Amino acid sequence: MKNNPRLVLVLGDQLTLEGAALRAADKARDVVVMAEVRAETDYVGHHKQKIALVFSAMRHFAETLRAEGWQVAYTALEDAGNSGSITGELLRRAEEFGAKSAVTIAPGEWRLRQALEDGPIPVVQLPDDRFLCSESEFADWAKGRKSLRMEYFYREMRRKTGLLMEGDAPEGGKWNYDAENRKPAQADLFRVKAPQFASDKTTQEVLDLVAREFADNFGRLEGFNWAVDRAGALEALDHFIAHNLADFGTYQDAMLEDDPLLYHSLLSPYLNLGLLGPLEVCQAAARAYAGGKVPLNSAEGFIRQIIGWREYVRGIYFHEGPDYTSRNHLDQHRKLPWAYWGGATKMNCLSHAVAQTRDLAYAHHIQRLMVTGNFALLAGVDPAQVQEWYLAVYIDAFEWVEAPNTAGMSQFADGGVIASKPYVSSGAYVDRMSDYCGSCAYSVKAKTGEGACPFNLLYWHFLDRNREKFANNPRMAVIYRSWDKRKPEDRETILGQAEVMLNKIAQDAF
Ligand SMILES: Cc1cc2nc3c(=O)[nH]c(=O)nc-3n(C[C@H](O)[C@H](O)[C@H](O)COP(=O)(O)OP(=O)(O)OC[C@H]3O[C@@H](n4cnc5c(N)ncnc54)[C@H](O)[C@@H]3O)c2cc1C
Ligand code: SF4
Repeated sequence: MKNNPRLVLVLGDQLTLEGAALRAADKARDVVVMAEVRAETDYVGHHKQKIALVFSAMRHFAETLRAEGWQVAYTALEDAGNSGSITGELLRRAEEFGAKSAVTIAPGEWRLRQALEDGPIPVVQLPDDRFLCSESEFADWAKGRKSLRMEYFYREMRRKTGLLMEGDAPEGGKWNYDAENRKPAQADLFRVKAPQFASDKTTQEVLDLVAREFADNFGRLEGFNWAVDRAGALEALDHFIAHNLADFGTYQDAMLEDDPLLYHSLLSPYLNLGLLGPLEVCQAAARAYAGGKVPLNSAEGFIRQIIGWREYVRGIYFHEGPDYTSRNHLDQHRKLPWAYWGGATKMNCLSHAVAQTRDLAYAHHIQRLMVTGNFALLAGVDPAQVQEWYLAVYIDAFEWVEAPNTAGMSQFADGGVIASKPYVSSGAYVDRMSDYCGSCAYSVKAKTGEGACPFNLLYWHFLDRNREKFANNPRMAVIYRSWDKRKPEDRETILGQAEVMLNKIAQDAF
């Protein structure tokens, strides 16, 4: 019976032809609904390039669906009648097509899942099987465990996927080759640059739209260089495997002023939008290793980020529940410094990480963790404000992946669900892994006094003010012992100067 159509809601990060909702739908009867709406662009002030990427990728995906024979009801941002929200668009399209219900992939955010639950028409939310570990599998893995460490989860995922496995044993005899990684990098004029993606007519229209409608949002639109469809995403994957994967592991923690990308893949936006699948990406890396083109430490390190970290943080986000993003274990309440939005700071590392974020909507993991994240944590910033910043400014930021990385891994706001100790360091770490310190107004070698690196002062203040919270953490004991060994007057000097620095930060004068 050719009865009323069902609506198939395809969200901006569900751009996968084989997605569960499209698989469940009837091409001859159902109507795909896609919508650019203000409720989604405005709930945080997204980077201009992020809005442009999502809209352009959505428009390209709608064309692909039409070419595949789907009927697509697409609402562009400026269309007359655009209701401004996903649920509003579902209602409008239900009335237009006489549909009584909708189906979709469950959104990657509690907020939107709830909005669909409470929405005007019934929406079936199907499990997102584009991930390798389902929410229920993760819950089974987590059940009864005292701690949910990524490393053990990762081993399960290696066994499940068979990636880099020799029977039951890990390839090369070890699960993890990080000991061979973490090397600083040198400037290299011959390092292969990222592939270039010229803007087609659709992308140009979107760029114009974003320039018009989101002129006050953070970030530069000029230089937009992201793939906007699956073909482009595959090209980016091929480029990475051919040119950068071999050195990815060794230099994945390195930072250079004049080379913001180094050997990183830049694949996160494509994975997160659904243009690439995690398994195909990892299989490409495993093939390169099997073919002798890349060393094991790089292939393993890269695969771990995807079947380990990426799947794990998603598992944590849904396992921990909707309150996860509002946790504040360390009771930090200071405001996010204006420097995060481009305000002046003398800290060379911070100003570089932010400038690069403004220009590219991208910073690699260590810049996010050990520069902007480390500084916000040491400076006592409210984790909700830190999360909002990360969610807004990065091209790949969607709450299921951004929140656990920020609240959990970076800000310790979840009290140690993800990290066994806080990711904090003095300036020595930044100095070892980057070339930022050489041209900084602060001195990384100075531990106290005018001109001492802010990380050096704040590191001890952070540890001192949170002593009760970390007193029973065996991984912190050595650090506290070394603090206690210092003369009381030295400790007082450091803490006093750190207070002065915190006041300067509060006044955006640092
Ligand atoms: C505070 C903070 C916030 C972050 N916010 C996001 C975010 O909003 N979205 C996001 O995708 N990643 C986030 N990350 C993780 C990581 O920084 C990015 O995935 C990575 O920098 C993306 O760049 P790339 O594709 O070049 O990654 P590469 O360094 O080339 O790594 C390969 C792939 O591994 C995956 N990956 C690596 N690390 C992680 C991780 N910790 N969690 C999940 N996936 C990972 C990504 O899919 C990435 O594309 C965050 C990390 C921190 C510390
Ligand atoms: S001296 Fe300190 S503030 Fe300056 S770049 Fe180095 S770590 Fe950053």
